Amino acid sequence: MAFSPCEICGQRTARLALRGGGVLARCVDCGHLGRQLAGSPAFHRDRAYGGEPTLDAWRLALTHRLLTRARRPASVFEVGYGSGALLRRFLDDGARVGGTDPDQLGVAVDARVRAHGRLYDAAIEDLTADVEPVELVYGIHVLEHVQDPLRTLRHAAHLLAPGGTVQFLTPAGDSDGLRLYGRAWWMLEDPTHVRFFSAESLHRAARSVGLTDVCVTRPALDSLVTDAASLARLARPRARPHGVLALRPVLAAGVATAPVVLAARALRPALRPTLHLTARKAR
Ligand SMILES: [Zn+2]
Repeated sequence: MAFSPCEICGQRTARLALRGGGVLARCVDCGHLGRQLAGSPAFHRDRAYGGEPTLDAWRLALTHRLLTRARRPASVFEVGYGSGALLRRFLDDGARVGGTDPDQLGVAVDARVRAHGRLYDAAIEDLTADVEPVELVYGIHVLEHVQDPLRTLRHAAHLLAPGGTVQFLTPAGDSDGLRLYGRAWWMLEDPTHVRFFSAESLHRAARSVGLTDVCVTRPALDSLVTDAASLARLARPRARPHGVLALRPVLAAGVATAPVVLAARALRPALRPTLHLTARKAR
């Protein structure tokens, strides 16, 4: 199997064999990972969405806090807004909101966001509309899905007012999870996850589109059920079309083990399964 060069830095990629079976293409220079579903099926579920409503509500509150830690923006644009739940938080804060989403998930959009937001139905890479510049452009777990991540970041930067900020959350391909769980790593359950950034490749991607003050961190609180879900997949490797979190005992284990997971992540940040990119557009 021949691998194409790294989509971020253009260097050679090599085969990374996963524990349990399957391969990813790993950049020898920046550690960026490419995934072809045929090469690493990893008992993936049927659909992209594998969440759970209660967990989604928690995640929403935590993500909103993470995005507004530095300051509350007066205008935001969300890449892949889904149901618009996060945009609704910003709208309720008094911000001007907008976003684009190709509606892959086919979910209903919050009525207030639909009424007051400037919404587009294109993939970010294809967005050609003349959007009024905003203070914050963000995307929560979208970079691992898009067709072209550099074009996505370029368009995101284009939507920023001078001095504005982009923030993206994406699974960490250089976290312990992939090494520990191999093909059972929960981030491989989503069939539309086609890449996993390393901190280095995410850094390079942001710099290559002209963003400045690039910072990549590993938030402790994102994707708290990753370990329980991965362990369940490791213990019983088999097809689960609806995903492992559709099983109540796995979900309950995820919630029950959250304090232990948090303690472990505090001691060892490499266990954290998410990367958080923050970068600015020069004034
Ligand atoms: Zn690379």
